[in-house]
Amino acid sequence: MGNQTVDIVKSSLQALVDDKSFLPELSGERRKKAFTSLLAILSTPNHVNKSFLRIALENGQVVRIPAYRVQHNNILGPYKGGIRFHESVNEDEVVNLAALMTLKNALHQVPFGGAKGGVVINPREFSEKDLYVICKKYVQYFSDSLGPDKDIPAPDVGTGEREMDWMMGEYKSIRPGESYRGSFTGKSVENGGSLGRREATGKGVYYTFRYLMHDFLNLQESWLAERDNPFAKTVLALKDKLLSVAVQGFGNVGSVVALAAFQCNHLNNKVVAVSDRNVTLYNSEGLNIPSLVKYSYANNGDLPKTDEMVKLAGIKAEILNREAVLTIDTDVVFLAALENQVHGENKKDIKARIIVEGANAPVSTEADEYLSAKGVVIIPDILANAGGVIVSYLEWLQGRETQFYQEEEVYQKLYEKMKETFDTVLPQFFADPYPLRRNCYIHAVMKLSMIMYRQGKLY
Ligand code: GLU
Repeated sequence: MGNQTVDIVKSSLQALVDDKSFLPELSGERRKKAFTSLLAILSTPNHVNKSFLRIALENGQVVRIPAYRVQHNNILGPYKGGIRFHESVNEDEVVNLAALMTLKNALHQVPFGGAKGGVVINPREFSEKDLYVICKKYVQYFSDSLGPDKDIPAPDVGTGEREMDWMMGEYKSIRPGESYRGSFTGKSVENGGSLGRREATGKGVYYTFRYLMHDFLNLQESWLAERDNPFAKTVLALKDKLLSVAVQGFGNVGSVVALAAFQCNHLNNKVVAVSDRNVTLYNSEGLNIPSLVKYSYANNGDLPKTDEMVKLAGIKAEILNREAVLTIDTDVVFLAALENQVHGENKKDIKARIIVEGANAPVSTEADEYLSAKGVVIIPDILANAGGVIVSYLEWLQGRETQFYQEEEVYQKLYEKMKETFDTVLPQFFADPYPLRRNCYIHAVMKLSMIMYRQGKLY
């Protein structure tokens, strides 16, 4: 995916050069210099830690597995970001995702910096025991740079509570006597995790959409109608409609989004398509999502992929190829799989008027420009999928304060946080013709630069 995030940071900064409200304390040469250092700081990670994990597998084979921990920026607080287990992980990708975390936290005012980890494996090909050893080794190799006030990993694609529990256990053994509860987030509740963390990303993704199409739209309808703005027109055209919804990905994020859409009584939704790594399931009348959630839970996370399995799941659905979910004629598509799913090749086939990015970077820059020019509203990753890290922050706080929030309290705080961010970006977004992603980046960069300036880091 190249350095998509860095490119967008650069163009956001370019847009701010002539904006007098940006770094108003500075002028002339000093201002120019501040921009140069800002660009240098945000376009390169502070540390790229790379290693090969040497593992003796259960079957006797010895393998060397590439592993990364990239620490992008810690101006707002300890480095923070997930660890991804996937066979396509590479250094460029981890650097890009780490930068995205810096911006995500800045945008939502979460007092963490940005980091990301990755291990180049397909976890489905390893035994539980091998995965346990991989997790232990990961912590052993990177333990010097990790810690509750230094760098706090969390789950990402291919990892979850089980891996975080193992990793925290190893961290605790390596550093006896030190505080360890806040060293990892996304742990099981039994092990100091937060209620609601597992569902947090998916819930947050749906909350952003619901906020835009319900709370904000109802409150600002006449203001929006006065705007000469393609995105305002798109949103207004969908007001009070029965919204057909497609969800790409049925993992930890996609399944929660699909269920939230199915159950939502603020909006009139119909989930007509869902997909996973094997298939797309389609029903123009709407799919029975609770039955599918049950089925996938009992079947290793997979959706039914044959007509017989569909019957077994107790639902009615047509089976299509896995890419079909993107091009089906729906009002909304939630992208909750991997990055670069909507790109130069399929951008013309997308019919949805609203795209919500549950995954990180699922729309390429080229596709984003093309679709935005057509008035498609794209709710970008750093805005939509911050639920995970927001609740990670609550988990980290709970670990420090040894207190416990009830599940409803967690969701309430999550909703309030997403709403707060939305309220700062939406009015500007609808008042100018730029895509929402650009507005979000500008907000995040503004926040980061203000803090850097106050800390004396801009010259
Ligand atoms: N992996 C998630 C993300 O990309 C969560 C990160 C965290 O909780 O630190 O936002």
